[in-house]
Amino acid sequence: MRSWMMAAALLAGSAGLALAQDTPADQVDPKELAQIIAAHPSWETWLSDPALAKLTLAGPKMPDSQWRADDIRRPQPPVVHTGTECSGPPPADAEALFDGHDISKWTGDHAGEWTVKDGVLTSGGRVYNFLKTRAAYGDIQIHLEFREPAQPNPPVNPQRRGNSGVFPMGLYEIQILDSFGVETYPDGTLGAIYSQNPPLANAARPPGAWQCYDIVFHAPHFDGDKVIQPARMTALLNGVLVQDNFPLIGATVHGAVGHYTPHPDELPLAIQDHGNPESQVSFRNIWVRRL
Ligand code: MG
Repeated sequence: MRSWMMAAALLAGSAGLALAQDTPADQVDPKELAQIIAAHPSWETWLSDPALAKLTLAGPKMPDSQWRADDIRRPQPPVVHTGTECSGPPPADAEALFDGHDISKWTGDHAGEWTVKDGVLTSGGRVYNFLKTRAAYGDIQIHLEFREPAQPNPPVNPQRRGNSGVFPMGLYEIQILDSFGVETYPDGTLGAIYSQNPPLANAARPPGAWQCYDIVFHAPHFDGDKVIQPARMTALLNGVLVQDNFPLIGATVHGAVGHYTPHPDELPLAIQDHGNPESQVSFRNIWVRRL
C-alpha cells in the first residue's frame, strides 16, 4: 500500500470511517487528502505524516477568509526569479546590529549556540531559540541578509529546510525558509507572515546564495486590552515586494489564529533558530532604522 493510502486509511479509521461529506471540519477528509496528493505527488512524503496533514488541511479557520491557518489548499505564490544584488553598506543613519564582527548587540537564552565566523553569523540548529536585540524597537526599517544551507539530503518536512524568521518585537514573524523549488503551505513559505499571509511572490534564491530582506514594520497600538491599530508589515525579498502593508491578525502562532495581547510600545527584534541540526541558517549585514 502506498504510504499516502495507508495514512488516508489510518485517518479514515480515526474518524470512524466517516464518509467524506461527514468529516468534521477539524479533521482531515481522507478522500480530499488522497486527491491533493494525487495532484501534487511531491507533497506525498510529508503529507503522509498525519500530524502534517492535520496541520495543513484541518487547522482553525482564519477570520474573514476562506482559508484555514497553514492551509495547503491556498494557491502557491508565483515564482519570480531575481538576480538583484542587494548587499551594500548601511545608510548613514542606520544602526548596525551585525556588521560581521560579533553579537554584542544581541542576547538570548541560547545566544551561545550562535557562531560568528568569517564575518557571518550562523544559527546552531541544535535547540529552538531566539537571538534578541538588547535594544527595544517599535516602528522600524530592517535590512537583513541570509543564506540557506545547501542540503544534499534535505529533510522530508519542508518546514525543516533552513527555517528561521525575522520577528519584529519578538512576536510577529516573517518567514525565512529554503523555498527555492520547494512547496509548503503558502502562509509558511519564505516571505510569508507566518500562519497569516502568503507572500505575493516566491522570490527565493537557491541554497548557498545570499538573499536579502528589506522590511518596514509598524507596531500595533493598544487602548487598554484592546488593539486599536494592528501591526503592519511591508517587505521586499531580493528586491521583490512580498508583503504590502499587511495588517497582522495578531502575534504569529504555528497552527493557530494569532491574537493580540497588549505589550509595550517597544520590544526587542528577534531572529529564530528553528533547532533543526541538518540546516543552520547564516546571516550578515543586519541593520535597522527607527521610524
Ligand atoms: Mg520560521
